[in-house]
Amino acid sequence: MSEFGLTGGIGSGKSAASERLGALGAGLVDADATVKQLQRAGMPVFLAIVAHFGDGVVGGDGELDRPSLADIVFNDPEELKKINELVHPAVRTDMARQRKALSKTHEIIVLDIPLLIDSENQIELAGIVVVDTPTDVAIERLTTLRGFSTKDANARISSQVSRETRLAKADFVVDNSASLAALDDEIARCWQWMGELHQAAGQP
Ligand code: ATP
Repeated sequence: MSEFGLTGGIGSGKSAASERLGALGAGLVDADATVKQLQRAGMPVFLAIVAHFGDGVVGGDGELDRPSLADIVFNDPEELKKINELVHPAVRTDMARQRKALSKTHEIIVLDIPLLIDSENQIELAGIVVVDTPTDVAIERLTTLRGFSTKDANARISSQVSRETRLAKADFVVDNSASLAALDDEIARCWQWMGELHQAAGQP
């Protein structure tokens, strides 16, 4: 079994890329989806967040009010540290559980981790795939397809590591600057590269 990290800036097309790798046969673990699952109302992580941040971070539907929480933690480094302490260990444990389960059925596992470069990674990876999209194209997609304001899209992009920093850590770059059909070709190339590394590592 070989595990690859997949990352990229917000709106770069990580989900589009991992979906395609999944269709080609990769086992997928999605860090963002794992966080959301663990933060659902009533889950231990949700209860710990509410105990620390108060009822103000719970929405009318009883679920976590993410914008309210983001408002707090992205304006106070101490609170950002606190939320990470409350969430990260549980996410690591749950991702380890998913990886173990997938290792029984898949030779290649792709871990979609948006902050792979920004944060400390403790998983031994066969390689890092960076989905790369020019900043103006990512902003255009986020505003037209995902309902972001231009200001929010810009703020989120500038809160992450730079495109250059991310590219410097890449073992393989998926160029997602063009159409979805072009992305299919890039992903086919990436899948072949993963298979070659997997075989070269002598994995069954
Ligand atoms: P996030 O960081 O928010 O998780 P992401 O990196 O996973 O975002 P996606 O959700 O895959 O990015 O892509 C952002 C939007 O752009 C989506 O609506 C997606 O369908 C669209 N998109 C991705 N790649 C392309 C492309 N090559 N051409 C057109 N639209 C695209």
